[in-house]
Amino acid sequence: VVGWKLGRRRRKVVRMPKKRLPKTFDCPECGKTGTIGVNIAPKNPLIIAKCGECAKEVVKEFLGDKEIAFECQNEKCPNYKQTISLVRPFSGNVIIAECGKCHGKTLLQLPLEDAPINCSCEPQKQVRLSTRPAERVATLICGSCALTCYLLATPADEPVDIYGKFLDRYYGKR
Ligand SMILES: [Zn+2]
Ligand SMILES: [Zn+2]
Ligand SMILES: [Zn+2]
Repeated sequence: VVGWKLGRRRRKVVRMPKKRLPKTFDCPECGKTGTIGVNIAPKNPLIIAKCGECAKEVVKEFLGDKEIAFECQNEKCPNYKQTISLVRPFSGNVIIAECGKCHGKTLLQLPLEDAPINCSCEPQKQVRLSTRPAERVATLICGSCALTCYLLATPADEPVDIYGKFLDRYYGKR
């Protein structure tokens, strides 16, 4: 068989109906409909560096694109106000952690739990790093009355979930 030509088969475009989640809600305080708006602000995960001398922790927000310098804040520590570690993003969830003393570097994969920067300092004096996941703060405001509510949001929370949590709290109080 010569000259077989495979025509491009037309695919039928199946449109999945997008679930429309509500963005405005009714206010139980003033009784108006659709006056409550929910805003969820994302927060960055945290990186915690434990000083190799005094074991005090320094907590910083991990911005994902900038180098972060950790300085010991403990006045009694020989590392006071000195950079104990530098952390910068490498790729994806991998970071480069640098020792502030000997400048040895380690690649570490997030999340971290008490991971030492394997540098040339004594193992007991190596800075140890941990991470804490991001927390999101949701603000719920009624545009008609003075009602304002702040709630902690999980990574999966949509405005409708926040509104549900708010209602639980609102009616639970009474
Ligand atoms: Zn210290
Ligand atoms: Zn070191
Ligand atoms: Zn209201």
